[in-house]
Amino acid sequence: MKFKSYWHDTAPTFQGAVQGPVEGHYDVAVIGAGFTGLAAARHLAKAGAKVAVLEAERIGWGASGRNGGHLNNGLAHSFLSAKAALGVERAVALYKAFDDSIDTIEAIVAEEGIDCDFRRAGKLKLASKPQHFDAIARNFEAVHAEVDPDTALLTAADLKGEIGSPFHGAMLSKKSAMMHMGRYVVGLADAAARHGAITFEKAAVTEHRQGNGRHSLTTPRGTVTADHVLVATGAYTPPIFGYFRRRIVSVGSFIIATRPLTDAEIAATMPGNRTCVTSMNIGNYFRLAPDKRLIFGGRARFSATSDQNSDAKSGEILRANLLQIFPQLSGVEIDYCWGGLVDMTKDRYPRAGYVNGVWYAMGYSGHGAQLSTHLGMIMADAILGKADRNPIKGLDWPAVPGHFGKPWFLPLVGLYYKTLDRFQ
Ligand SMILES: Cc1cc2nc3c(=O)[nH]c(=O)nc-3n(C[C@H](O)[C@H](O)[C@H](O)COP(=O)(O)OP(=O)(O)OC[C@H]3O[C@@H](n4cnc5c(N)ncnc54)[C@H](O)[C@@H]3O)c2cc1C
Repeated sequence: MKFKSYWHDTAPTFQGAVQGPVEGHYDVAVIGAGFTGLAAARHLAKAGAKVAVLEAERIGWGASGRNGGHLNNGLAHSFLSAKAALGVERAVALYKAFDDSIDTIEAIVAEEGIDCDFRRAGKLKLASKPQHFDAIARNFEAVHAEVDPDTALLTAADLKGEIGSPFHGAMLSKKSAMMHMGRYVVGLADAAARHGAITFEKAAVTEHRQGNGRHSLTTPRGTVTADHVLVATGAYTPPIFGYFRRRIVSVGSFIIATRPLTDAEIAATMPGNRTCVTSMNIGNYFRLAPDKRLIFGGRARFSATSDQNSDAKSGEILRANLLQIFPQLSGVEIDYCWGGLVDMTKDRYPRAGYVNGVWYAMGYSGHGAQLSTHLGMIMADAILGKADRNPIKGLDWPAVPGHFGKPWFLPLVGLYYKTLDRFQ
């Protein structure tokens, strides 16, 4: 078994990083080369701005190269709870931003010729318990009537041709898509470079200073200056940006991938070939890879660490979860096991805007593979002074009480959700 991301292992290496010293003055310096940072850099460079991307590791090293590969439309929350928390107007705007995000990615993939198996697969939100189906049905009625007619409610009987496991029904969101995340992130970096963005890898920003209308960003390889800074560091945000560290809780999420399944195994497990998410609080998400592996993820443990040791422990839990759902795969080998950090906010809504002199977009809370590209571009437009399309502009973002960067409270949160799952 390989302890590395399947997406990292099966994508080409980005060849466009600039070697030599990190130096120069730029209109915009983007910190972080995941989907947010690279989409912003491409958009800014296309508009003629002089852009530098500073990445601590390699492009796509963070969540963008480690996720489950789902481009699901709609909100992770129920639409009903989003309306209650955000008000109707903002809930609808955010719902539609997720739809637009998938259209945006589809357009970039076509325009830049990125070979990443983008496919409108549709998503199933699967009811793990009979009572969960009632909640899914209530949410479906509101979604279907008010914001997304491209949805359907499937009964347990309807699911027979979709999935070889006894779920109690599902909501189908037809606009949802999937793609090869590693090939997309490298394609996005190539496109940004083609449009003129300068990318520095192994260039962790360790100091940020501001004065006289310009920023100075120091890395071990040198210093750049810039008129604007976009912080696109998500769950990996460094301590120098304390404002964000007090508002983002970095939580591990973990994934295993089987060997490629045979056609008979697929027919017995995932004949619908969609992205699938279960309805438990500590649930699972899964899909087939382009080479027919089952990519199966979940929170598994409430850990703030993702390294080989932590990923292996989570991988064992995930294998047990996988066999609960698909006992027919009991003899199938696991080829990959990896993890990454998710940038959670307290209310699980993302945040983007301008604070303390810097622009930012982050806090996707495990539902950002699509929105990160879109919000990166929206923030690029804001930097360029264009019309502001930010669906979450001005959304209040208080610090998490008692949180200064290391989430000591995660085991308690895990216990809380485990208890909910037992009784709900
Ligand atoms: C295991 C897992 C599964 C997921 N599954 C899904 C899914 O199926 N669907 C979905 O919608 N979302 C999913 N997500 C979430 C999604 O992947 C993220 O929301 C999205 O990739 C965020 O992109 P980003 O560019 O904002 O952040 P990232 O991709 O994390 O990029 C941030 C970058 O900043 C860099 N950085 C940090 N500090 C510095 C510094 N000081 N200097 C320079 N660079 C720095 C990091 O190295 C990193 O490369 C998942 C996440 C994980 C971890």
